[in-house]
Amino acid sequence: MGFLGACLGILACLGIIILVIYIKLAKMFGHESIKEIASAIKNFRSIEQQEYTREKSINGMTKLLEPVIIRDFGDFNKDFLFSKVEKNLVKIFNAIEEKSVDDIRNDNELIYMYSAIRDKITDLKNDNINIKYDEVIFHRHAIKSYLKSSGKATITISSTLEYYYSNDSNRRLEKKFKDLKKQTRYTTEFVYVYDETQFKYNQKAFTISCPNCGAPLQQLGAGNCQYCGTYIEPINLKNWYMISYKEDYK
Ligand SMILES: [Zn+2]
Repeated sequence: MGFLGACLGILACLGIIILVIYIKLAKMFGHESIKEIASAIKNFRSIEQQEYTREKSINGMTKLLEPVIIRDFGDFNKDFLFSKVEKNLVKIFNAIEEKSVDDIRNDNELIYMYSAIRDKITDLKNDNINIKYDEVIFHRHAIKSYLKSSGKATITISSTLEYYYSNDSNRRLEKKFKDLKKQTRYTTEFVYVYDETQFKYNQKAFTISCPNCGAPLQQLGAGNCQYCGTYIEPINLKNWYMISYKEDYK
């Protein structure tokens, strides 16, 4: 009886200590958040997986910015630009997956993107990394920002999409998200050079490379590459060209 009594006493003490700690924590954070924290710790992986597969919200203000852009560019059509986002990203994903620039080398729409993609592919080849983007589906697009200065206008677009992603250099990631379709968001930038004379002083913002040798071109007009002599077609400046893209997952 004495032993059992001692055991019960110890259990009662432990119970009281746990209760006191719980009440203190509950006072600090509230009952619900304690439950949430506990389940978060327990289900950390499943929460990461839920986030991975949760459709992301769009990050933009199209209603506000569209009229401002139309005031400057009367023929601006946001749906046309959104379709460019989709086409360009798919072309870029394919090039990365194939580790080949063959299909984008002479693609007029990717004229400002070419050298960056080529460099990325060179890195993937050197590190022997294989990346795949399968079953790409776009959801929504929104205009995130608009800027007009020094002869060029820049539009930033936020887009939500999903795909099966794999990268064989990251085994941990591969295992965690195996067979799950990733829901993500991308930010892309488009530029329109409306005044070439002003723009010349501001060319450092982005460069165009020779499709043959990769050297940066000194001029936007037609001519021959200074390095390898390849004839470069004149660039139609009156167009929205993609200049950057990046994943905006969190
Ligand atoms: Zn060249």
